[in-house]
Amino acid sequence: MILILLGPPGAGKGTQAKLLSSALAVPHVSTGDMFRDHKARGTELGLQIQAIMDRGGLVTDEITNGLVDDRLGRPDVAAGCILDGYPRTVGQAEHLDRLLARLGRPIGRVLSYEVSEEALVERIGGRRSCPTCGAVYHVVQNPPRRIGICDRDGASLVLREDDRPENVRRRMAEYVIKTAPLKAFYGARGQVLELDGLDAPDRILAETRRRLGA
Ligand code: AMP
Ligand code: ZN
Repeated sequence: MILILLGPPGAGKGTQAKLLSSALAVPHVSTGDMFRDHKARGTELGLQIQAIMDRGGLVTDEITNGLVDDRLGRPDVAAGCILDGYPRTVGQAEHLDRLLARLGRPIGRVLSYEVSEEALVERIGGRRSCPTCGAVYHVVQNPPRRIGICDRDGASLVLREDDRPENVRRRMAEYVIKTAPLKAFYGARGQVLELDGLDAPDRILAETRRRLGA
């Protein structure tokens, strides 16, 4: 089953995607992770998207769709996957429809994480990431054992460039204008499941499984 995770930046999509991926034993497909990987490796694509990403803008549909075509064509996602951060525009959603029709696979459900804007600003402002392994912490809600140090590998945690306040504001604006309409897009087909993004991660997971019957 293909699950699409929808929600504003900081709504906890990444955390839920990882939990769902292991609970349902299907791969976690994150376009953000794919782009960060290109950036870190300094590929041609990485250089092309670096400035857009750092500012919190959206990479073009053309580039993003190309990456997803590639990824969803691989055998490990034949039984399904968790789509985290894609689609993010109506153009991407229409592209995904065409791609899945070609592959003969339906969209399972669209999980929509509902969170107030103040809560988002607080969550993102306190977020710290490990530049080495990608682990994500929160200074209050999910602190590492030693302040500023990754539990897994001892690297110094950083505030991601796109988590800086001015860039967060841009990401929010992009979300409201380009991504939020997807809820109505999928809602019209009765595919959306609304979840409380402020609940504890394991409770959100349990609620999701209960409502999916999975
Ligand atoms: P994320 O980790 O999902 O928040 O993504 C980090 C950044 O990668 C975003 O702020 C965008 O710059 C870019 N990105 C990720 N997914 C997409 C997408 N579906 N469309 C356009 N840009 C994306
Ligand atoms: Zn680490």
